[in-house]
Amino acid sequence: MTYTTRQLAEITQSELIGNPNLPVKNIAFDSRNIFSSKEMAFIAIRTQKNSGEKYIKSAIEKGVEVVICQKKPEETLGATYIITENSIAFLQKLARYHLSQFGGLKTIGITGSNGKTMVKEWLYQCLNDEFNIVKSPKSFNSQIGLPISLLQIDDRHNLGIFEVGISQPEEMKVLEEVFSPKIGILTNIGTAHLINFRDENHLIDEKIALFKNSEIILFNGDNERVLAKIKALYSDKKLISYGLKSTNDVKIISDWKNRNKEVKMSYFGEHINLPVHQRDEATLSNVLCVVALMKELGIENSKILKKVEGLKSVEMRLESVEGLRNNLIINDSYNLDLDSLNIAYQFINEYNKAHKVLILTSFAETKNDDKFYEQVARLTNEQKFDKIFLIGKEISNYKHLFSAETLSFDSTEQIVSNQQLHTIENSLILLKGARKFRIDKLKLSLELQKHDTVLEINLNSILHNINVHKAVLKPETKMMAMVKAFSYGLGGYEIAEFLQHHHIDYLTVAYADEGADLRKHGISTPIMVMNPEQHSHNAIIEYNLEPEIYSFRVLDMFCEQLKIKGYNGKYPIHIKLETGMHRLGFKGDEIDYLIERLNSLPVKVQSVFTHLATADMPEERDYALEQIKIFDENSSKLVRGLAYKPLRHILNSPGIANFSEYQFDMVRIGIGMIGFSANEEIQKQLQNAVSFKTVISQISIVRKGETIGYSRKFMAEEDCYIATIPVGYADGLPRLLGNGVGRVKINGSYAPIVGNVCMDMMMVNLGNIPAKEGDVVSIFDSLEELLYFSEKCQTIPYEVLTSISRRVKRVYVKN
Ligand SMILES: *Cc1c(COP(=O)(O)O)cnc(C)c1O
Repeated sequence: MTYTTRQLAEITQSELIGNPNLPVKNIAFDSRNIFSSKEMAFIAIRTQKNSGEKYIKSAIEKGVEVVICQKKPEETLGATYIITENSIAFLQKLARYHLSQFGGLKTIGITGSNGKTMVKEWLYQCLNDEFNIVKSPKSFNSQIGLPISLLQIDDRHNLGIFEVGISQPEEMKVLEEVFSPKIGILTNIGTAHLINFRDENHLIDEKIALFKNSEIILFNGDNERVLAKIKALYSDKKLISYGLKSTNDVKIISDWKNRNKEVKMSYFGEHINLPVHQRDEATLSNVLCVVALMKELGIENSKILKKVEGLKSVEMRLESVEGLRNNLIINDSYNLDLDSLNIAYQFINEYNKAHKVLILTSFAETKNDDKFYEQVARLTNEQKFDKIFLIGKEISNYKHLFSAETLSFDSTEQIVSNQQLHTIENSLILLKGARKFRIDKLKLSLELQKHDTVLEINLNSILHNINVHKAVLKPETKMMAMVKAFSYGLGGYEIAEFLQHHHIDYLTVAYADEGADLRKHGISTPIMVMNPEQHSHNAIIEYNLEPEIYSFRVLDMFCEQLKIKGYNGKYPIHIKLETGMHRLGFKGDEIDYLIERLNSLPVKVQSVFTHLATADMPEERDYALEQIKIFDENSSKLVRGLAYKPLRHILNSPGIANFSEYQFDMVRIGIGMIGFSANEEIQKQLQNAVSFKTVISQISIVRKGETIGYSRKFMAEEDCYIATIPVGYADGLPRLLGNGVGRVKINGSYAPIVGNVCMDMMMVNLGNIPAKEGDVVSIFDSLEELLYFSEKCQTIPYEVLTSISRRVKRVYVKN
């Protein structure tokens, strides 16, 4: 889109302050993602949790000249402003107007609880050479995401495929007014966001409101309520139901669970054999939907089959792993189009690496011309890479367009054998390529090779879990993230960096060296240190860490160190009160003297807090309430005695879950980020953030009567298949789990650990599980399994996670 500031104000009936003739091509709502300010407007969006107005200044500092917001700022900082009553409504009005300019565009709107992105990406893969398609980037489908997606439409496009998602009642009505698709798709109805609705009926009613003005509706008819409701409400439209049940118009008619049989579908009675690779209900339903839609668009069967054959599961995630020579590798070699390139560029900006290197292939998955590569180069040049490696003949023709030092190669093999790659150090390396170039091979040669055992951490789940906890708090309550003990075993700076990026208010570590390590990695968020040992006071001050002071002894020693260092000012500290845990802290009768001391020393109390001993125990609720009462009294007294107002806090994750009414000014989240809550309602909404995985080293046949491992603790009662797994007690898998106590999951089935667990290995009995060497073994990959694992170890997830050895590689994924 390109509109002038005047047009923008007119279309949306907003007030314009400043230059009416500035062109606006793009609108950003996250100031961190602004790399090029050219023809870019920043829109400040107010949500319940946050206000984008805080970031106007940083957007202007990045060169943005146009700001859209709800309140006229006191200082204009030289920018032009469009003042709107409601920023989200502004985007929606603008998107609606913009869409209305393209009457000839065929539109598909996809809604449902799951599978929207998969269906959208598959339709894109299937229809990409028949149409010029515009689609929602990532899973942009919300009140903000949908309008932003629609604004991408331009006059080259003849098909638009957009996701439409809702999480609250009444939202669809609004979105339908912005976007009424000619063809509507309902993927399925699941439990996502169900709690915000009265019941499933309510959720269905809200979702299908999208189809009010559609001509054709494709929907998963396996859900009887959906079937009945759509038939009742939309009998005047063309309806196509698909799914696994025999009542559907488009359905599977063979025994798809039998892997030896072909999958057969029926499209209104016409039989088609489906070349599908993956067989599960969700995949098959999505394939049926895609086939039905292609039929509807008049595409021939031979072509449909070819496309279905080539469907790739949508790997939407970007992995980051530690590389050799202190590099960080971001691997995004699953697909390559302009959208995903843009997203990858946004993603890498969340890291603090000093140097950036790009490895980019030709765009084999889309049709391209000069103009296209000019666009690629423009996007890329904005990123200021230090070095670029191009792979493929097509993109190499455009080498001159890239402003960084650029090398080109015909093939991935050529670059592997080139020494250049091995000179990169201390850099972030982005691997971005079309599948056919197989640049994941490069990842192998750049990666730090430990062994194949990994702890995979999903950063999005951590963020999701934080937000679930935030939802029970007041918007102004601050949040401190406990990243002590290597972030509960999940990693050091990687987690802290991610949390900092998402504006966490405070970080807390156990020891000064953990804090120093974070600072060395560029973490600038305030960091509290819970055990400020005397020998570390110097480091605490050097690295601007904030000690937890729990006794007069520590207070005096620390102030002594401040004096030695010639510190003049008021050093930030935190005061720990003892209220019933009997671990550390000042007691009630020490408060008066503490006030006196604090007022005469060069310190400033940032916060005062205590810790609950029984927040997760309903039967000990009274004990927790008593602690809270003591804390309230003693901390109030302390605060009254100071000339300023420190933050007060008491709740850890179980505390947030069970005592949210006592949130004071801040809460301290720990295990909740990882996915555990002491409250059932909250637990239901949390996502797993950690998986512990490895691969099978060897499979052997062990004959009846033969024994396995040290001390011959397992003897085969019959011939059996035994897999050796490269994880042992030195990796954090306790020896306790040997001899049938523990289990692992291989290809979806459980295999018991047999014999004693060794230091670096263990053996499992495969039974009838089909498996081969190199197959993935999951030690746990869900919350239920982590809990099961902990119970078998006779402990709690906290101990399991913090015991996983540092030699296990941590891999971070983001969606
Ligand atoms: C570890 C810790 C927390 C976090 O506890 P979770 O149960 O993991 O939420 C909070 N406060 C203090 C003082 C802690 O030591």
